[in-house]
Amino acid sequence: MKGTSSSSASLRRRAPCMCYCPSPAKPILVVSWMKNNPGKRFYGCPNYWVGRKCKFFQWLDDEICARGKVLIPEQRQTILRLEDEVSTYKKREKCLTVSLILALVLCEICLCVILALLD
Ligand SMILES: [Zn+2]
Repeated sequence: MKGTSSSSASLRRRAPCMCYCPSPAKPILVVSWMKNNPGKRFYGCPNYWVGRKCKFFQWLDDEICARGKVLIPEQRQTILRLEDEVSTYKKREKCLTVSLILALVLCEICLCVILALLD
């Protein structure tokens, strides 16, 4: 029953048609990372970042519970830290791959020189 009421709440909050700008535009879906609304989605004016914004604002998600307000930022920080680590390891992997290729080419050259000296 609870699922039914939340899905009807979502239907009421369908994507708005246009913002209030002089040249109305379709609002964009944005995720808030403010302390009181971590991960909470809202629709906003698409011109917000270009300085010609109107005051269009509409929440999409319901209020976040107290536990979510603590847990979501912690998990986001963990994700950001892990993404940073993955990026570091990918750079390291690329460097090791280049080193391995260079070592193999060097071995091949040495082998050729040794074989040439034996002939
Ligand atoms: Zn606007």
